[in-house]
Amino acid sequence: MTHPKPPLEGIRAQIRSICDQAGRDADSVCLLAVSKTCTAAELAALADQGQRHFGENYLQEGLDKIAALTGRDLVWHFIGPIQSNKTRDIAAHFDWVHSVDRLKVARRLSEQRPAQRAPLNVCIQVNVDDEASKSGVSLAEVAALAEAVAALPNLRLRGLMAIPRADSDDHNRAAFRRLAMTLSHLRNTMPALDTLSMGMSADYPVAIEEGATVIRLGTALFGPRPARQ
Ligand SMILES: *Cc1c(COP(=O)(O)O)cnc(C)c1O
Repeated sequence: MTHPKPPLEGIRAQIRSICDQAGRDADSVCLLAVSKTCTAAELAALADQGQRHFGENYLQEGLDKIAALTGRDLVWHFIGPIQSNKTRDIAAHFDWVHSVDRLKVARRLSEQRPAQRAPLNVCIQVNVDDEASKSGVSLAEVAALAEAVAALPNLRLRGLMAIPRADSDDHNRAAFRRLAMTLSHLRNTMPALDTLSMGMSADYPVAIEEGATVIRLGTALFGPRPARQ
């Protein structure tokens, strides 16, 4: 079976046009290619078209691809749940972590960030729908965690990330707006925060309208993923 070329150009054009309509600069939205379950060859094909930012959910899989694609000047984002025994490898090999949701993990990432690397960019994952089953800190707890994380020496707190529920009837507009409001409040005391990581294949146009600065696309770029065991 031959794979059609990934629809990267079309998505880029769509991002530009949504930004135009929303009065935003198209450069203010970073397209993160969520490449879990994809092969290093698929990532390389996208990198050949100028895609630089890749997001991985599973540590070993991510490390294998980082090693396979070394020398290509790519930016690697860890976006999956973090077990504390995995922080050392994340801190050593990734440029960004979107899924920090407790201080213990943030402390370990800071302690384990190699001295020769720039501070690790991190976002705090927010459970923006207050769903019992979801990871992420509750809206009420974000400010305290953000202050503690911002004080860690080898991390650079950049902003907030959320994975809203899949079944909302407004394409998650209300949830995106809550996250954007929360960032805007934090910026009163932490003006350097500049990142809203929100929006996936099913809802990224709305996320951009609501201020997303990073959209995380898997299916839209690579097609449907095989089910994981
Ligand atoms: C898988 C995943 C995505 C991408 O999801 P799609 O619906 O395939 O675009 C984005 N963010 C996170 C955290 C993910 O785990």
